[in-house]
Amino acid sequence: MLFSEDVFKRKSEVGGSIEVICGSMFSGKTEELIRRLRRAQIAKLRVEIFKPKTDVRYDETAVVSHNQNTIPSIPVDHSSAILLMITDNVDVVGIDEAQFFDDELPHVCNTLANRGIRVIVAGLDMDFKGKPFGPMPAIMATAESVTKVYAVCVQCGSPALYSYRLVPDGAKILLGEKESYEPRCRVCYNAG
Ligand code: ZN
Repeated sequence: MLFSEDVFKRKSEVGGSIEVICGSMFSGKTEELIRRLRRAQIAKLRVEIFKPKTDVRYDETAVVSHNQNTIPSIPVDHSSAILLMITDNVDVVGIDEAQFFDDELPHVCNTLANRGIRVIVAGLDMDFKGKPFGPMPAIMATAESVTKVYAVCVQCGSPALYSYRLVPDGAKILLGEKESYEPRCRVCYNAG
């Protein structure tokens, strides 16, 4: 569909939809989420943004991207809380750091979309091991639109799809990501 990710005429459309913005760390996922949400706000659509409570890198109540664009958001413990907390007449729901949510998030996204809401989901598609991350694959499979964004490989300058972990650590969630990870292309990721 032409202009499938655009906001125009969204308000009068009957059906909702799911859009996914995915990629590695430093790939600009959150910037793209904020860009789409801002355009929806300019179009006078009602926008609400949620993120998992585990994401406490910078700010408790703002979706913050690496270039310091911010937009107020609601931290929630569980994805099902989104269904309880959205206001009745919301047009667009943004979800950031979706990879840290529980496995119910795909159901929540589809429930919202089936109610006519435009759902925009941003998250890491792979963890540092290169494996699909949390609920992301299931959301991508049921989305109308999937946009994969790329960082720049710090080793060779190619488009980067992996988040290479610089420090050994067994935990999936590691804060202070800027010091702990670097974006790498497939070749440089596998070179270790
Ligand atoms: Zn590379």
